[in-house]
Amino acid sequence: MRRSRAFIPTTKEVPSDATLPSHQFLVRGGFINQQGAGLYNFLPLGKIVLEKIRTIVKDELDKADCNEVQLSFVTPIGLWNKSGRSDTMGKEMLRIQDRHQNDFVLSPTNEEAIVELVKNRVTSYKDLPLNLYQINTKFRDEARPRYGLLRGREFLMKDGYSFHASKEDMVREFDLMEETYKKIFTRLGLNFRVVKADSGSIGGDGSKEFHVLADSGEDTIIICDSCEYGANVETIQSINEDEFNELSYEELSKKTIDEKCSCGGELSFKKGIEVGHIFQLGNKYSSALEANFNDENGRAKPLEMATYGIGVSRLVASVIEQNHDESGCIWTKSTAPYLINIMISNIKNEAQVSLGEELYEKLKDLNIEVILDDRKERFGFKMKDAELIGFPYTVIIGKELVNGEVQIFDRKTKNKTSVKVDDIYTKIMELV
Ligand code: ATP
Ligand code: MG
Repeated sequence: MRRSRAFIPTTKEVPSDATLPSHQFLVRGGFINQQGAGLYNFLPLGKIVLEKIRTIVKDELDKADCNEVQLSFVTPIGLWNKSGRSDTMGKEMLRIQDRHQNDFVLSPTNEEAIVELVKNRVTSYKDLPLNLYQINTKFRDEARPRYGLLRGREFLMKDGYSFHASKEDMVREFDLMEETYKKIFTRLGLNFRVVKADSGSIGGDGSKEFHVLADSGEDTIIICDSCEYGANVETIQSINEDEFNELSYEELSKKTIDEKCSCGGELSFKKGIEVGHIFQLGNKYSSALEANFNDENGRAKPLEMATYGIGVSRLVASVIEQNHDESGCIWTKSTAPYLINIMISNIKNEAQVSLGEELYEKLKDLNIEVILDDRKERFGFKMKDAELIGFPYTVIIGKELVNGEVQIFDRKTKNKTSVKVDDIYTKIMELV
């Protein structure tokens, strides 16, 4: 992409309600803009990041034999009456009416719809196990939409559902999804922890959340410094969860825990952003919606189920909550809108322009995600912009070109390294 042709409306203006870095920098960097309370447009850069995350999620799920579907976003109220959730979900569920006064719901999640889909299509133990997922819009009329993409009303979620002939097989798949989710968040370059979550009536390890560690997280979690153990404070009976969630990061880090982890390690409190949730459902929905299968002895039994969610649009903001500085975003390599930004410092200098163009064409041919800053703007302005947006590397073609050198600016460290023009490709290949 040529920057002169791109729609990247960066701005100095901070939205008045934007208290978090991800909210400020995503708006200022021209990634998103607010359409209404909890409603966001994804502009070209935001859309690229969203798609990159979606692709990684899909890639790992497909490798684990999950089937992608796309369910209708608008669902008839009858579905929700059958499970009883039209009453229990309350105002988070947005209802609409069509011209014939039929009631519908904008999907906040899809357990009912998916059970209806497999019912009468999955009838035998031979059809099982089955794992279906979609990456689709959800609507939840949140009481307090806030923090930009972290808590929107309309958002993109991956929701998955698995069906099994036995509890043992469901637990096997649940464990496989835990491993799959870990691969996804690792590929995204995130520092995250898996924690035990409140599983209501199910108990045991039936509910696990994936938290990105960040000062601004809305949840409080306990983690061990020497093993993988982690728990949401909501699971610990002696702790008042709300009290903890209201503490700032500094206040929280001063809180100590007397107990040790069962492995002997030290436990500490951290703030986390919930980016994923996996949950063993048992036969709650299959019983309510009478979705049965015939077992090996020909006996009808309700399907065993588990459900798996990832906040895809929430992840866009989570990457930035974890990776930013005072100048703006610092994208991880796998999430960056463009990996390499080529900066022509002075657009009137023919040698700079011609090297910039040549480099740009060559990197495009190599399928490297590259953007060429060919705008007629001052160098300082263009650098500030690049730092705000957060391209991992900027190749600065400037004054040093007379000595046969360019500089590579590393967004994370803000270090500039001089590179001989002849060595640029080797250097770039090392970076990508
Ligand atoms: P939370 O406690 O944050 O409200 P939840 O328990 O309601 O989350 P789930 O129903 O488990 O969330 O949804 C699966 C995933 O969808 C969550 O782990 C989260 O990443 C994402 N998600 C949930 N609500 C929102 C929202 N309002 N905006 C963006 N992402 C969301
Ligand atoms: Mg919620």
